[in-house]
Order: sequence, then C-alpha cells, then structure tokens
Amino acid sequence: MIPPGSTIGIIGGGQLGRMLSVAAAQLGYECHIFDPHETPCAADVAAQVTRASFDDSDAIRRFGDDVDVATYEFENLPVEPLRALGDKLKPGTRSLAVAQDRAAEKRFIEKCFGRVASWREVSSLADVTASVLKIGLPLVLKTRRYGYDGKGQAWVRSRREEQAAWELIGREPAVAESAVNFLAEFSVILARWEDGRHCFWDSPQNEHGEGILRRSIVPCSDEIAAQVAEAREAALRVAEALGHVGVLTVEFFASAEGPLINEIAPRVHNSGHWTIEGAVTSQFEQHIRAICDLPPGITGLTRGGATMENLIGPDVERWPELVAERGAHVHIYGKGDPRPGRKMGHVTRVRR
Ligand code: AMP
Repeated sequence: MIPPGSTIGIIGGGQLGRMLSVAAAQLGYECHIFDPHETPCAADVAAQVTRASFDDSDAIRRFGDDVDVATYEFENLPVEPLRALGDKLKPGTRSLAVAQDRAAEKRFIEKCFGRVASWREVSSLADVTASVLKIGLPLVLKTRRYGYDGKGQAWVRSRREEQAAWELIGREPAVAESAVNFLAEFSVILARWEDGRHCFWDSPQNEHGEGILRRSIVPCSDEIAAQVAEAREAALRVAEALGHVGVLTVEFFASAEGPLINEIAPRVHNSGHWTIEGAVTSQFEQHIRAICDLPPGITGLTRGGATMENLIGPDVERWPELVAERGAHVHIYGKGDPRPGRKMGHVTRVRR
C-alpha cells in the first residue's frame, strides 16, 4: 500500500491530470506532473511539475526516482521511455500499447471475445478500395495512432470518396471500420486492483457531436440498460487480459445485435466526470485508490442520477449564468484560450 504523504506522478497535465491531482490531494498525496507544455492546467493544483518531452528518457527516469507510483492521463505517449518506470507505472505499458493503436486494440478485443464493427487494416489507397469491397459502404477510416475526439477520421460514403478520405487522414496507417447503425452510445467505466478486485459505475449514455462527447447521462435508457451486463463482462475480460490496474473505460455502441466495442481508454474518462458529484466515490478518487492499493470506495449513485455537459470552446463563456444556476456543479479547467473543439470545462447536474 502506498500511504498518504507519498508522491504520485502523473504523466500528462491536462484536465484529467488536474482532477486526479485534486482527488489525490484530498487523500493526502502530493502530485508531480510530467508534461512538455509551459502551463499545463494540472500544474495549478499539483505540488511539482517536470516540463520535458514525453520521449525524454532521462527526464522520465529522474521523474520515476522522485515518485512512489506513476500513472498517465492520456494514451498518446511513446511507450519505450516509460519502461524505465517499471512496476511503479500503473496501469502498465501493456494497457497503453494496446489502447494507443486502433488495430492492436481491435485485435486484443477480439482475442478477449469482445465484439467490434467489421474492420480491416489499411496502409494504402488500394487497401481502402479492398476494404470498401469487403466491408461495404459507408465506412470510416481512422488513423491507427494519435486520433482523439473524432480527429484522424474520414468517412467514405461512396466509391468516389475513397481517395479524398485517404488524403484527409494524411495517408497514415489506419483501420477501415464499417458504419454502425447504433441505437445509442454508452460506456463501461470500471476500476481494477492488482489482486483482481474490481467495481463498475452505472453506465452513462453518451451523446457526441462532431466526434466530441457533448453529454453523459445516468441512468441510461432502457435499451442500453439491457446491454450493460454483456458489455461489463467484455470490458472486464479486457481489463483482466491487460492486467490493468486503475480505471479503465470502454466505449460501446448499443446496436440491434448487442453491444459493440468502439474503443478503450486505459484511464479516467470524460464520460465519467459525472461521478465527482453523482457517485459516492468518483472515478478520480477510485483511480488513486486502485494505484495506491487503498480499499475500493463505493461506486453507487449519490442520488437518482446525473447529467454531465461538456463546455467546449466558447461554451465556457457561459460561466456567469452557470455559476448562478442553483445546484449546477461547474468545473472550469483553467486552460486559457477557448479554441473551437477544445474541452474547457464541464457542468454536472445531479438529479434530485
Ligand atoms: P471515436 O473517436 O472512434 O470514439 O469516434 C468518435 C465518434 O464518432 C463516436 O463516438 C461515434 O459517435 C462516431 N463513430 C465512430 N466510429 C463509428 C462507426 N464505426 N459507426 C458509426 N459512428 C461512429
């Protein structure tokens, strides 16, 4: 067990690192953020910051010497330098390596008997054509690496769009994935301990716009609820096969054929932000508990449910109205420039 008073290293200094640091501080830990940016928003609430590139192995090693346990808040990190952290890194590099490559991820899910939409690997325009012939239209091309919030994706709706879509994703190694005619989207958020103990939160129903999460709602609709048990089993098989320690989020499509996995995030997730006020123990606190091997907290609802709305880009300028709204829990990440598409904050409304 890593006791309060110890130092937790967090690789990545965005809003997830910020909310992890706040939860860690509540339990008496100090956080050390590792991030290449000048002013990562997690630095505002952390005891120490290392500003260095994610591929700076020496800096990672020094950081590792300073912390008692280390974790990461996003998955687009080079894996090799992190190996220097050894067993201190929780979750380990396996979870990271699988989740950061869409082809490896889909193969891993299928090995764990999870279901995904029909897909093929693509590394040339000829592969795009072959995928269209095999999978059918429409399909979506997604770069294997560095995609998030709908970035690195292009739809192919007709044969004429093959080339434009291939150009749009920068001719990068990709996967071609068939369009899922989903009823709704939801996620399974779980936390797992080294010894196999685990817990789930209620599954939120997730609404996206332009590839970005807009809203998460708990409880989910009945049609999703009917698929949650199967989805949890698949998510847990993935967590166990990875030997994952900490929070793991699996995004699903609820389809007429049952739950299909869209992607895995080896970390706390935007669709779990509602747990800060909507659940007895938040995803952030539970992640800290799991990586420090403290006992699990209760994940049940504090009240009848919650709705989390993201504040994206200029939405954050609504803050005066939101902070005046009775009962609205406003979170502003302190990220400065509200560029379009940038997650600037969120607001959670707990059901009475
Ligand atoms: P992703 O970055 O893969 O999570 O995709 C972002 C969003 O795009 C998803 O949450 C869906 O709303 C939509 N999307 C992604 N892949 C597909 C698909 N194969 N079929 C239908 N919609 C998709």
